[in-house]
Amino acid sequence: MPAQPKRNLTKSNAQFQKAVKRLPLGVASTFRYWGDDRTIYVHHGKGGRTWDIDGNAYVDYRLGYGPAILGYADDRVDAAARKGMEVGGVFALSTERELAVAERIAKMVPAAELVRFSNSGTEAVMSALRLARAHTGRDSYLLVEGGYHGLFDAAMWMANLEEWNPKSNHDPEVVSYGKGIPMTLKQLAHLVPMNDCQRLEDTFRKHGHSLAAMLIEPIQGNCCAISARKDYVELARKLCDEYGVLLIIDEVKTGFRVGKGGVQGLLGVMPDITTFAKAMGNGYPIAVVAGREAVMRTFRYGGASHGGTYTAHSVSLAAAEECLRILDETPALETLASYGERLKTGISQILSDRNITHSFSGHPSMFGTFFAETPPDNYRDWKTSDYSFYDQMAYHLHDLGIIVEPDSREPWFMCEAHGLDETCLTGTLKAVQTAVDLTLEHFEDEAKRA
Ligand code: PMP
Repeated sequence: MPAQPKRNLTKSNAQFQKAVKRLPLGVASTFRYWGDDRTIYVHHGKGGRTWDIDGNAYVDYRLGYGPAILGYADDRVDAAARKGMEVGGVFALSTERELAVAERIAKMVPAAELVRFSNSGTEAVMSALRLARAHTGRDSYLLVEGGYHGLFDAAMWMANLEEWNPKSNHDPEVVSYGKGIPMTLKQLAHLVPMNDCQRLEDTFRKHGHSLAAMLIEPIQGNCCAISARKDYVELARKLCDEYGVLLIIDEVKTGFRVGKGGVQGLLGVMPDITTFAKAMGNGYPIAVVAGREAVMRTFRYGGASHGGTYTAHSVSLAAAEECLRILDETPALETLASYGERLKTGISQILSDRNITHSFSGHPSMFGTFFAETPPDNYRDWKTSDYSFYDQMAYHLHDLGIIVEPDSREPWFMCEAHGLDETCLTGTLKAVQTAVDLTLEHFEDEAKRA
């Protein structure tokens, strides 16, 4: 059996002790806290790798939750961003480049007839929902269990699987993500399980006439890349049309990643409104709300409000122009998807050699790994699957120089730079093999102790 790897985190640990005095949990975003002695501080990233302040190098499959589609500090995008800096930032006025980027998006995504910019996924989806409400004159909306649409109050409702008994006939309770979300908003949010056509029809029958929108991530970027079946999204489209509800496809994670035209392109389903963010700027903060012309023109004086001081900032916009050009005109997306396919094949071989049942979900560019014969069909299935093997494996991978999310709900993300550096693949597979063996050893020890 391999020896337990040792990683020196002396500097990160010391930084944590200093940072926690000024920053809650010692970090700038709660999800970056991985424990007092395992929270790492980054020195820099380049390509598909990240280096921490202790000098540990990692092959990185989080990629900042997806944005670094080409790789960190991509020379082409950074050069464009530097030119964008010379433009001067924001003016509370418009620049010509906005149209150039909007034209590129409209070319890549047929549903994006008209385009508006935002700074983050949260802002874009918040604008999308407001637009749907303004256009339909309705307030309620439908979410899919396991979906995540950002940090604004209306999106912060989830199915409480922690306290749900899968054997009961009851639906999981709808609860807020954390505290501080007004309970008065709860009545506006309805939730349905993914891929359950009967439940979707029933819900539309019951609430369809009061819904402004249905929001869906057809590949759930925050829930193991659980994927909607084509017939489920087609049914959603049909029901939305029947009940005058707007279909919002949230492509904040899938957009310009799973294909040039996003997951909507793969499924062949046109939303009324769609949102993009992460991959469009290779890490520079920019997002998009786009959609059908008749709906988008509701953004007007006297209609739905949209704007923001930093919207279409010259640096982010220039980065997005170059990043989208690369994604549209070069084989970058094929390169990273083929890397993901080879990585899955290698992982599969390691697990099969040890008779470990497994499956994958999502798309080769962002996939989830399961220790079950088939991937879950929805969030409720995830609850009943065994994710303890993943959790333990992820723990060892960090020590072995591979960054993946400790939580099995976050898929692994690929970038072009991974595909262009064969040592990323060989290094990862070597580490996976060791991590799997250490995990097996861990569970054998636990069984002996029991
Ligand atoms: N929608 C989806 C599908 C997301 O994955 C995320 C972020 N993970 C958001 C919205 C919110 O984006 P941001 O973090 O940029 O606000």
